[in-house]
Amino acid sequence: MVEPLSRSGAQDSLNALVSAYVHTHQYRRALERTAVADLPALDQWRSSLSSMLTDLEQSIEVAVRNHVMWPWIAGRVDANPVVAGRLLARLNPTRAPTPSAFWRFCGLATIPGFELKCDRCGAVMHTTRVRPTACTRMIGKGRRCGGACLPVTGTRPKRIAQRWITNPQAARSAYDPDARTAAYLISHDLVARSPHYAVVNRNEQERLLTARPSWSFQHRLRAARRRTTKTFLVDLWLAWRGKAGLTNRPAERRVTSGRIGGAQVRTPGSPDRKNTMF
Ligand SMILES: [Zn+2]
Repeated sequence: MVEPLSRSGAQDSLNALVSAYVHTHQYRRALERTAVADLPALDQWRSSLSSMLTDLEQSIEVAVRNHVMWPWIAGRVDANPVVAGRLLARLNPTRAPTPSAFWRFCGLATIPGFELKCDRCGAVMHTTRVRPTACTRMIGKGRRCGGACLPVTGTRPKRIAQRWITNPQAARSAYDPDARTAAYLISHDLVARSPHYAVVNRNEQERLLTARPSWSFQHRLRAARRRTTKTFLVDLWLAWRGKAGLTNRPAERRVTSGRIGGAQVRTPGSPDRKNTMF
């Protein structure tokens, strides 16, 4: 039996490199937002951080090319090794008994959404909270509708895409923010640099054209990309579990709780944990 990947030295090195990369990146962004004139030290720090990031990217690339899953990934998508590394460093197949644990961890699960309708233009939207909100639909060049979107009575909650949560602490209770960023970044490579997943994406867009005619083009585009990323995560889960000598039980519907790779995920039983695939 292959040693669990989470305990391998190579995986630990990759995790440490990615952690250093993400923190250095955040630090540089914070410095870029600091607008203090006549402070040469700031320029020096920014430049030091930039060269540190370049070194870290090179080290991550080496670690990823030696990772047990790189041949599988490279065979399917011409992925940026640093982006692939960011994803591989956050996921742990030994702690994910089902593929849905992977995509939930990456913030790609669905949550309950409530229907609101604009009292001016009639646009329908779904939100996570039942409360009136201003309509942001564009009705002309630079002009938004501005009507009031009000809850539609008598409708039951629908499953909608997990929203991006800006508060880091609140986000961590729903998904792993670093894994979500990595999954978002790799979704671009899946659509643009993988013949296999480009077909998955195109088929889903065509399906939604008929199944969801009221959705905007952008809405269908985002939904198709989510499905493509989920499909990739399922394939990755199957391949990675196989490499690690773990038994795959696709029929198992139980969703993992606890920690997968680093951050806490929600415990089972909350209303939004319906384990549907897409
Ligand atoms: Zn409106």
